[in-house]
Amino acid sequence: MLVLVVNCGSSSIKYQVREVEPADGEPQAYTSSMPAIDENVPLATATAGVTGGEVIAKGLIENIGTSEITDHTQALEILARRLDEELGGRTIDAAGHRVVHGGERFSAPVLVNNEIIRAIERLAPLAPLHNPAHALGLRAIQKTWPHMPQVCVFDTAFHRTMPEKAWRYAIPEEMYVMNGMRRYGFHGTSHDYVTGKAAEFLGIPREQFDAVVAHLGNGASVTAIRHGESFDTSMGYTPLAGLVMGTRCGDLDPSVVTAMLERNPEMTARELDRILNKESGLQGICGDSDMRAVQQRADSGDEKAQLALEMTAYRLAKYIGGYHVAVGGAQALIFTAGIGENSSEFREQVCNELGALGITLDPGANASPEGDVARISTPDSAIEVLVVATDEERAIAEATASLVRERVKG
Ligand code: ADP
Repeated sequence: MLVLVVNCGSSSIKYQVREVEPADGEPQAYTSSMPAIDENVPLATATAGVTGGEVIAKGLIENIGTSEITDHTQALEILARRLDEELGGRTIDAAGHRVVHGGERFSAPVLVNNEIIRAIERLAPLAPLHNPAHALGLRAIQKTWPHMPQVCVFDTAFHRTMPEKAWRYAIPEEMYVMNGMRRYGFHGTSHDYVTGKAAEFLGIPREQFDAVVAHLGNGASVTAIRHGESFDTSMGYTPLAGLVMGTRCGDLDPSVVTAMLERNPEMTARELDRILNKESGLQGICGDSDMRAVQQRADSGDEKAQLALEMTAYRLAKYIGGYHVAVGGAQALIFTAGIGENSSEFREQVCNELGALGITLDPGANASPEGDVARISTPDSAIEVLVVATDEERAIAEATASLVRERVKG
């Protein structure tokens, strides 16, 4: 089955085509047997049963909303022509969308119908930059390929298993009830995917697996995994909370916000939001947001860069310690995403803060982890430390293929 995995932004569409194999060798002609999208498609949950995810094509369409490409429908027409050429006559069987916000409703991937698209639009107040763009992409695919089954995979869904004590803020209840002010968590597709890979690698049944997952990219979050599910996570109402990130501040006393606005009457809430999202984190501390650049400067003696790294590692280590307690003793600590997978230096810096947990790294394994899942701790480390390559597109392709198969089977 060929699955088109798309990440629709307001001015761009990132895409990959993945070949997903049914685990049991079922026939692959899906589109022809699919009824047209209608209002009565029941919600379904993803199941296992598909494997693989070889990348057949990938690319980016930019400048949507300009005179060049006026809207998402036109972008999709361009994509359809491109894919016709690249796939040599093969057709796409289904589309899987990365959707940033599923609010409180979506706890698993869903097959799309018009009601689902409207629900994603209604969640726009929680993700004003992303959800409206996702809805545009969903409708554009409906228009371009009217019979194409579509699936949405939500960044927030994996965290719907968090207990209320973890997701509530200690603010008046009306602020939660009226405005949805609670923790949602993000990067769920990645946390879910690497948790599964790590449990499999260690030979532990997923429902018995307790771990801490650190997804460290430009955006970064850490999740407490209890019995294979999300129990707590560092991002909150928005992806601004938690760790020190490339350009985001992470956790902050909320009084900083009110005091800044009171003391600078010319500063708008939107401007302050931009500063906290785009000019803070590593960028705010040392003037560089890219981990490689910060590490190079730190290695050559730059004190601001050294401080930025120390703060980032220290904040993460505190979360790991806290989540180790939250899950009743983690069996594994998992590093993933750009920094987590590639920076042995940063992993070492974090683990150096974790001596109290009895974690010891194997320097050789940490310097060059091999394969998609690698153990980098010593045999006597109290907690296994793993590096796991994340692959959100693959996870989305697999979830999409599972739901479509399930529906075809009826
Ligand atoms: P995004 O959140 O945008 O998906 P990525 O997961 O691609 O981000 O991670 C980007 C981050 O990974 C950048 O800070 C980059 O410097 C860092 N990174 C990538 N490779 C390395 C490396 N070899 N050493 C240190 N940092 C790295």
